[in-house]
Amino acid sequence: MTLVRKNIRELSPYIAGKPIEETKREFNLKEVIKLASNENPFGASPKAVAAIKKAASGVNRYPDSNNFYLKRKLASVFKLEPENFVLGNGSDELIDIVIKTFVNEDEAILTSRQTFLEYEIISKVNNRKVVTLPLKGFKFDLEAIKKKINSKTKLVFIANPNNPTGTYVNKPELEKFLKGLPKNVIVVLDEAYDTFIDVKDYPRGVDYIKKDNLIVLQTFSKAYGLSGLRIGCAICAKHLSSFMEKTRQPFNVNLLAQAGALAALDDKQFLKKTRDLTLKGKKYLYQAFRKMGLPYVRSAANFILLDVKQDCQVVFKDLLKLGIIVRDMKQYGLDNFVRVTIGMPAENAKFIKALKIVLFKKR
Ligand code: PMP
Repeated sequence: MTLVRKNIRELSPYIAGKPIEETKREFNLKEVIKLASNENPFGASPKAVAAIKKAASGVNRYPDSNNFYLKRKLASVFKLEPENFVLGNGSDELIDIVIKTFVNEDEAILTSRQTFLEYEIISKVNNRKVVTLPLKGFKFDLEAIKKKINSKTKLVFIANPNNPTGTYVNKPELEKFLKGLPKNVIVVLDEAYDTFIDVKDYPRGVDYIKKDNLIVLQTFSKAYGLSGLRIGCAICAKHLSSFMEKTRQPFNVNLLAQAGALAALDDKQFLKKTRDLTLKGKKYLYQAFRKMGLPYVRSAANFILLDVKQDCQVVFKDLLKLGIIVRDMKQYGLDNFVRVTIGMPAENAKFIKALKIVLFKKR
């Protein structure tokens, strides 16, 4: 088979969370709870939904290629300038744009082995070399990553908090890492889950973009509840953003996404409700796991990595039959772990009930 490029032939594709409708059809179920993709279980901001409906009648026109209003709004929220933002069709697309813009053919990308798999997949699609290092205590091992940097290293991807472990690198750790990095290395700090942070020593990436070669990624898919709309943003200095603007497609962010994101940024109440209920749900799940004697990794995000002490694919399938979708961690090499998104209170309770049945055959 020579039609297809070698890197694509050898690629292991991204496995997305199983959709609700597909699970209903497959197992003949009326009710299915999805706790598999770290989405917002409380819906989307009502303000965003109203804005999307209003914008819908205008879809005969192309969207604003420059994202004028959204960039202006983001600039006021982050106290930066509109030129510090690059919008993307989800932060997934921004990962692609960053790689395409900055990594030459003979240069390499560094990240961790158990992190968001798209860093590795998109690097490989672009035929770029990726070096992955093991986590240390479920955390990004920044010391090992720094030691591995050489003259060929161009990009370092750090998810903070990390997906799928929920761990975070703290301020002193990040600052030690950034200090003295070679000038030709760009650090991407992916903050997809930063709204759920409940610790004091979390470093906000935007505080570093002026002095370091650092690109922050944020998304509207998680706390803002707009996964289906596909919109994310990169925040960085102009000497980086101006070139990312050249790389992206002219209409990469659709008209509805621009309108929805703009309105969502104004809905502080929705964001607060999401955060408060997620933190409450996290406490509930921690307590239930402790009672069941199941080890878990403390999470700074809206999901928890749980040690089910047996084959995670079996647990995943058994939970599916009971109408609960989680994520098995086989693809990450964490054979006894599942990742569960914190859901609505009733969903969390149903998940725990199903987990007891699956693990202990207790009804
Ligand atoms: N980064 C991380 C760490 C993620 O977990 C995800 C979503 N699973 C993304 C980026 C992609 O998000 P988006 O929907 O904005 O493409």
